[in-house]
Amino acid sequence: ATMPPLLSAIATCGRNGVLVKSAAAMERLGGITRVALDKTGTLTEASARVRGIRVLPGSGLTEHEALALAAAAERPSEHPLARAVVAAAEERGLRLEPAADFGSAPGRGVRAVVAGRTVQVGSPLALLDGAMPPPERPGDPAPPTGGGDPVRTDVANESSRTATADSPIRPATTDDLIRTATADGPARKAVDQDDPVRAAVAEVEDGGATAVAVLVDRRPAAVLAIAAPLRAGAAEAVAALGQLTGTPPVLLTGDNKRAAARLGEEVGITDIRAGLLPQDKVATVRGWEDAGERVLMVGDGVNDAPALAASHTGVAMGRAGSALTLETADAVVVRDELAAVPSLVALSRRARRLVA
Ligand code: ADP
Ligand code: MG
Repeated sequence: ATMPPLLSAIATCGRNGVLVKSAAAMERLGGITRVALDKTGTLTEASARVRGIRVLPGSGLTEHEALALAAAAERPSEHPLARAVVAAAEERGLRLEPAADFGSAPGRGVRAVVAGRTVQVGSPLALLDGAMPPPERPGDPAPPTGGGDPVRTDVANESSRTATADSPIRPATTDDLIRTATADGPARKAVDQDDPVRAAVAEVEDGGATAVAVLVDRRPAAVLAIAAPLRAGAAEAVAALGQLTGTPPVLLTGDNKRAAARLGEEVGITDIRAGLLPQDKVATVRGWEDAGERVLMVGDGVNDAPALAASHTGVAMGRAGSALTLETADAVVVRDELAAVPSLVALSRRARRLVA
């Protein structure tokens, strides 16, 4: 017997290193009208590099000390930026203390207690606005007010967590993330341009890198400049997806505007939505879906999982993708090449024509 066209398309995908999870998913891929692409880990290589370390005046730390603290806090995280921080510390032969009370907030960063000090590493926007509180410790002074929602400590792939009586460890489900993601986020404070921290962040971002803030005991200690190279074939994949849908693809990223705009120029994307938290990605996708569009969302991180679930079809970049994202996606590009995404859409369209 001959294989039905959609199953035969799935088999072809499998031979080409793309895992499509069902015939329904294979079918949906061909029906998309718009493509939304994540930046870090999707359009850029999963491997990023620390390009510079700026220790802030008054932190009392050396570059190596700041990096060692940041790397120790990042070690349990799977985020591409976290792996870059750990790799930079290892290259310098730094010894990393164990981290306790690890917690991660998708789209924001991580925090942990390292050698008795509270270390937070992540988006300057989130950390400096107090959107990511440090872990509670006995005898700690009250956290600064104006903080946002609590840090999640139960994200599925961030495995090194500490259970407490009222927060038992359990794997997060996509529903959990969507529930968190759609709750209203904190209002953001205005940026103070005179602040030395903001100045260091602006300098890094102007250089086209991603600025990652390191706070030690709630005080800004360092700003890391992290660069992620573009994936091979990114511009070609963007152009092909635009041609297939008749609509230019859109960039959805948690990173800052300047880094996003620079990358957009390189890959040929002009519609750029930057500084998005996971819930903002969901709201953007939902807005299009509600307007009758069928969105293909491509992402890699835990922060993309809710948007992948909200979209008509979700595709995950596989090699470094987070476990939850791989589970949520309709298809996983195990081969880890962006060119596979337009191929998937084209293959689905051919199979649909044979079914009809
Ligand atoms: P993207 O949407 O481009 O994939 P993410 O949403 O994963 O980016 O991250 C958004 C921002 O959050 C990053 O640019 C970084 O500032 C911060 N961030 C998130 N997780 C981490 C982490 N583990 N370490 C450092 N920074 C992080
Ligand atoms: Mg990402």
